[in-house]
Amino acid sequence: MFEINGRTKHLAIIGHPIEHTFSPKMHNFISKKMGLNYIYTAFEVAPEDLGSAIAGIRALGFSGINVTAPHKRRVMQYLDEIAPQAQMLGTVNTVVNHNGRLIGYNTDADGFYRSLLHNGIETKNKDILILGAGGAAKPVCVMLAQHTPKSITILNRTVSKAEELASYIHKTTGFSVETEKSRKHYDIVINTTSAGMAPQLERCPIEDMSFIDRNTFVADMIYNPAQTVFLRRAKENGAKGINGLGMLIYQGIIAYELFTGTILPDSIYNTIVSEVFGQ
Ligand code: NAP
Repeated sequence: MFEINGRTKHLAIIGHPIEHTFSPKMHNFISKKMGLNYIYTAFEVAPEDLGSAIAGIRALGFSGINVTAPHKRRVMQYLDEIAPQAQMLGTVNTVVNHNGRLIGYNTDADGFYRSLLHNGIETKNKDILILGAGGAAKPVCVMLAQHTPKSITILNRTVSKAEELASYIHKTTGFSVETEKSRKHYDIVINTTSAGMAPQLERCPIEDMSFIDRNTFVADMIYNPAQTVFLRRAKENGAKGINGLGMLIYQGIIAYELFTGTILPDSIYNTIVSEVFGQ
């Protein structure tokens, strides 16, 4: 490990709660691998302290921070500039200190896209089904709508939320999204719901999965457990698929590149998967 000294630059993640975050482990691992003199820590910040925390980031000259729940929307009011993708999503997960100007970015959508590309999955001209319409569905849908799929359909347990998200996607990207399952086959099916994650470990977001077969690619945003009921059943039907670890890692890689102005080697992804996550 490099020596922490007077030139060490500071990075951090803020959230509430924060103790289960993987980010310090991942970012400090990258700094060590790349030989860059940065240290990354985690801070529990209560909602009422958000403004003071951001003032502290400025005063202490942090190079950047990641921002997680529940601050991703409210943090925007304390920043000097919001990058277009974050503006479109209405949330920020990465703040970079550019010579005293705090700029907000959102790396979730690009993180998910890069995890698809890493697995050789293109979205152009594909029929895509999204399960869920919560916070995680939004960046995924915005990103997909920007990459010319043939169709996007959003299904959600609470139908009104699917309709709300579809109308938001149309308004922000101009792409028309469907909210009813009208096709027999979808090329890509993405689970953005929390069904399958504790405390819903045994739940699957949809009962009838007979339309998923060896010609379907499935992605689950959940990474813990590594295989949800949804992923297991899809694979039993012959589909290939990935869990949410790729998105988690790529959103971190993109944030690290923004913080430090470096381009990380492609090989860093596999190194993180094996050496940080032991997979
Ligand atoms: P959220 O805003 O609370 O939304 C939860 C969504 O799941 C809603 O659409 C909800 O439907 C649906 N849902 C919950 N239980 C369900 C069930 N039993 N059956 C069917 N639908 C169900 O949560 P979120 O922020 O979108 O997060 C969703 C998941 O994505 C979480 O597991 C989270 O860990 C994961 N995630 C992963 C990453 C990553 O980097 N890989 C990033 C962000 C999030 P209703 O609207 O009907 O309630």
